[in-house]
Amino acid sequence: MEEIVSLCKRRGFIFQSADLYGGLNGCWDYGPLGTELKRNLKDYWWRKMVQEREDIVGMDGSILNHQAVLTASGHVGGFSDPMVDCKICKKRYRADQIEPEDLICSEKKQGKKEERLCELTEEKDFNLMFKTKMGASASDDDPNAVAYLRPETAQSIFSQFKNVLDSSRQKIPFGIAQIGKAFRNEINPRNFTFRSREFEQMEIEYFCHPDDALALCDEWLETRLSFYEEIGIPRTQLHVLDVPDGERAHYSAKTYDIEYAFPFGIQELEGVAYRSNYDLTQHKTHSGKPIEYFDEQAGEKYLPHVIEPSAGCDRTILALICEAYDQEELTNDKGKVETRTVLRFKPSMAPIKVGIFPLLKKNAEQVKIAKEIERELSSYMNVFYDEAGAVGRRYRRQDEVGTPYCLTIDFDTLGESGDELKNTVTLRHRDSMEQERVAIEDLLPKLLKLIK
Ligand code: ATP
Repeated sequence: MEEIVSLCKRRGFIFQSADLYGGLNGCWDYGPLGTELKRNLKDYWWRKMVQEREDIVGMDGSILNHQAVLTASGHVGGFSDPMVDCKICKKRYRADQIEPEDLICSEKKQGKKEERLCELTEEKDFNLMFKTKMGASASDDDPNAVAYLRPETAQSIFSQFKNVLDSSRQKIPFGIAQIGKAFRNEINPRNFTFRSREFEQMEIEYFCHPDDALALCDEWLETRLSFYEEIGIPRTQLHVLDVPDGERAHYSAKTYDIEYAFPFGIQELEGVAYRSNYDLTQHKTHSGKPIEYFDEQAGEKYLPHVIEPSAGCDRTILALICEAYDQEELTNDKGKVETRTVLRFKPSMAPIKVGIFPLLKKNAEQVKIAKEIERELSSYMNVFYDEAGAVGRRYRRQDEVGTPYCLTIDFDTLGESGDELKNTVTLRHRDSMEQERVAIEDLLPKLLKLIK
């Protein structure tokens, strides 16, 4: 894992937030390549879950949530984790996630460091929500001034269910999808971005008739597993946990956790939960407003049930990086064994699709053609122009950030080996390292096909 964290910083995928000042615990900033990777993931999710489906519409709710919404949903009263403190070293732990090696505390006694087992307090509930005050004149005791940074994107979907239904003219079954930030004051952020205090979710609330709910829950599990395969996380690396009775929320008759084999253990990527009509019932009761669905054909009025596939964007990014990371030994032209670090991203996810290199930066004609190709391709995909150093080194730099294709413009492009190769370039494939000659005029259609 350390190698991956270090690569992420070195190559501009992910930095600790406020790195200059020692870091802000549980918060991360995505650098230039991490941002591209995240955009690719979110765009693909949106395309598959919203754009290509007639039964799902999108929304983009506010991050600041009204306290009434989160009181109705149960978050104000009960969105907490069990917390314990060590009476000696004062360290805080999430009680249900303590590893034995965590429980060592060191004390200084008469100048000497002594290690012993932590002595823990009783468990108490720690609410994970970030509370804030709204309005310039908000006083400390004005309950109407209290707002929360949303702990999940789902509640704005539930509280806007009726408005979306009325404005989109969808019919049951249909879903509302949202991608956005969520905030949880986690007791122990850990495992790089896996458990953060600020993170992004990709959530769908799929509203249905209660009779169809259990079958739809299984269908959604399959849809989501296929999605992970399509983006480059094979099924063999995924585990499905059918959450047993007693461990599910009291209103859920079925919940699956989709887990991934991270280097630090098998951990949750996404939950696919059948939540009955719990949330809509809560919002109807607390708001006192009619939010039922009316099925004209059946003449039936009811509060729909819901299936919730709720995925973590940052956790999926981390899984994509872990899955793509590879080191292989190669023998170079001089017979020396070298290690090649390569991120084997699917082309659709790769932050840079094509590296473009003139073989010699001093050759004005090669540079001119390379720049023309860069200009043409960059309207369609993210490309990177590089003229510094030996071409082999440039390939390695692109391998390390997962660029699936590189183009080299050389003397053959200029026609120095005859007309046959004139106006062709070398297209080099990252995984096989094979090279082929492609005519410049064929590059765009060929690459568009390859990266789709
Ligand atoms: P966990 O048990 O790991 O705390 P959860 O079951 O509370 O997660 P949900 O409330 O189901 O998580 O949230 C849906 C998804 O949001 C999770 O599957 C995960 O991918 C993501 N997520 C939740 N908490 C965090 C976090 N602290 N950091 C990053 N992603 C998170």
